[in-house]
Amino acid sequence: MALIVQKFGGTSVGNPDRIKNVAKRVADYRKRGDQIVVIVSAMSGVTDNLIKLAKEIMPLPSEREMDMLLATGEQQTIALTAIALHALNVPAVSMTGAQAGIVTDGVHTKAKIHNITPKEVHKKLDEGNVVIVAGFQGETASGQITTLGRGGSDLTAIALAAALKADLCQIYTDVDGVYTADPRLVPNATKLSEISYDEMLELASLGAKVMQSRSVEFAKKFGVVFEVRSSLNENPGTIVKEETKSMEGVVVRGVALDKNQAKVTLVGVPDKPGVAAKIFKALGDATVNVDMIVQNISHGSGVPATDLTFTTDKPDLLKAQKVIEGLKKEIAYKDLIVAEKIGKLSIVGVGMKSHTGVAGKLFETLAQAGVNIDMISTSEIKISVVIDLAKGEGAVKAVHAAFIG
Ligand code: ADP
Ligand code: ASP
Ligand code: MG
Repeated sequence: MALIVQKFGGTSVGNPDRIKNVAKRVADYRKRGDQIVVIVSAMSGVTDNLIKLAKEIMPLPSEREMDMLLATGEQQTIALTAIALHALNVPAVSMTGAQAGIVTDGVHTKAKIHNITPKEVHKKLDEGNVVIVAGFQGETASGQITTLGRGGSDLTAIALAAALKADLCQIYTDVDGVYTADPRLVPNATKLSEISYDEMLELASLGAKVMQSRSVEFAKKFGVVFEVRSSLNENPGTIVKEETKSMEGVVVRGVALDKNQAKVTLVGVPDKPGVAAKIFKALGDATVNVDMIVQNISHGSGVPATDLTFTTDKPDLLKAQKVIEGLKKEIAYKDLIVAEKIGKLSIVGVGMKSHTGVAGKLFETLAQAGVNIDMISTSEIKISVVIDLAKGEGAVKAVHAAFIG
């Protein structure tokens, strides 16, 4: 008897028929004698709608109350999925994150999992039930409801698979697997049969929302091999696992476009020790995620000054602005400029470690497509550029064609 963890995303449980389809799939696996733990997201659009409702009342709502609100999305789907299984005469019981033993820290809306004690899950499984756990949510040691960041049901699935020592972890979504680029953007993108944790992690953090990046980090750390596949057909998906020698032959595994970033520039920042530390410490304390940072050389006569630019997730922009404005007196920068219409395009591949000329080819391709590069950042296995959002989709197509075909 195998223990299988199956996660179904928002589209896969988007309406009653889709939920019945999930129940049918789960029931078929169970017929083979396996134990099944199902993780579900909120129905598609529900989380976005709840956020919209709160923001209509107040632009920066309390993060504790946001967690209280957002956790309800998944709570609807666990019950509906259990009901759908009951309708097929399959014993099933739903559980919130807290009931499943998921304990997190207290960073509301971006909580990290501290530990999981899935005693109740095991008990219900042993009694013959399919166990359905609400994705995306947990509880602090003192009983506060938390959520795990957007896309966090992926993390619930991977973390539970690790805690339960599951034999198989399947992430069901609305595409057939992980592609060389978002198949909705690049129609001739191809499905990868396998991808390394590091490549998946980069693609995910760089905007390929097919997997939440923190969930991939977790999978790598605990060696959870998982499959990304479609809930709407039987096609084999993409296996995500440790890098193998053969993976290095491919220079660029995938292209990603992140449309969810914003750019913040502090103009005329006094160029002296401790200033950057103050800025990024304050942003960190406010749990603003900062991604790329670029600082220019000093300019101006008299007191040397510099411009400092960083990117952050769009939802964090308002918070970031507030933090920086709060530092105006102390730091005495001249001006604050924010830009929301940016896109971050990235190419990713473990093969970049052993191939040269990749950056040159990327920049040349962008130049030929008439795309100006605003910021650049690189790691061993990726190159990212910030560009104009309006040119993003065209740029992804051009870069995909140049590197992947
Ligand atoms: P779920 O609701 O199942 O969690 P998501 O909407 O979060 O699904 O993620 C699936 C979507 O990710 C796909 O519909 C696809 O448009 C997008 N996506 C972006 N990049 C990729 C990629 N490289 N491969 C596959 N899908 C991708
Ligand atoms: N419902 C949450 C979100 O939309 C979590 C998830 O879908 O994974 O971000
Ligand atoms: Mg998702």
